[in-house]
Amino acid sequence: MKQAKKYIIANWKSNKDTSEIITWFKSVSQLFIERKLKNLADFEIVICSTYIHIPLVKQQITSYQLPFKVGAQDISPYSNGAYTGEVSAIMVSEFAEYVIIGHSERRIYFHEDEDMLREKTQMGFSAGLKTIFCVSNNKAEIPPDVTIIAYEPIWAIGTGKTETPLNANEVARKIKNDNKVHIVIYGGSVNKDNICNFLTQKEIDGVLPGNASLDPNSFWEMIVNAASN
Ligand code: PEP
Repeated sequence: MKQAKKYIIANWKSNKDTSEIITWFKSVSQLFIERKLKNLADFEIVICSTYIHIPLVKQQITSYQLPFKVGAQDISPYSNGAYTGEVSAIMVSEFAEYVIIGHSERRIYFHEDEDMLREKTQMGFSAGLKTIFCVSNNKAEIPPDVTIIAYEPIWAIGTGKTETPLNANEVARKIKNDNKVHIVIYGGSVNKDNICNFLTQKEIDGVLPGNASLDPNSFWEMIVNAASN
């Protein structure tokens, strides 16, 4: 049976301006050309930028012919209409295939609760987006129609400390067991040195790196190490 793809989903958070994005893609595309990885098709690589930079990310991926997908970091819980400042799932779906919902930073700093996250997931699903729903433990409420669950212990995000791969695998197993989801990825200080420890776990279908995705070399090294395993 053909092995399912492993996900490497870059979350740039509120980082990078236009020129930094252009430089990032130039560097990554050079590395991509220099070192042709035979099994890159075994990975689904997604770049999640700020809303404002999504069209640029899409354009860069297209012009360098990189096998990457485009993602957003959030969507509105509302459809199009009188919601000043909001960006709807329908708008995002013009440019992106994926959207992160319920990242712990949105739950903490923007007070997004379970009701709102259910609405957002529903909006994403209706607009045809693949939703990456973040949870910090296996007891968290998971709305229906989620595509991917990202298990991200809060203490491991941006701290340099990771969950042990065995614990992460066990949480992923429980999430799959208790919910109708088949894809669970791990996030929390993933980098080039530890990525394989997570990707080799049976129940872990990918990773969601934040900091380690910002630098083109460190991002590319993660892919190279994952692909060489
Ligand atoms: C994240 O952005 O969800 C994340 C896990 O960040 P970091 O890899 O920096 O811990």
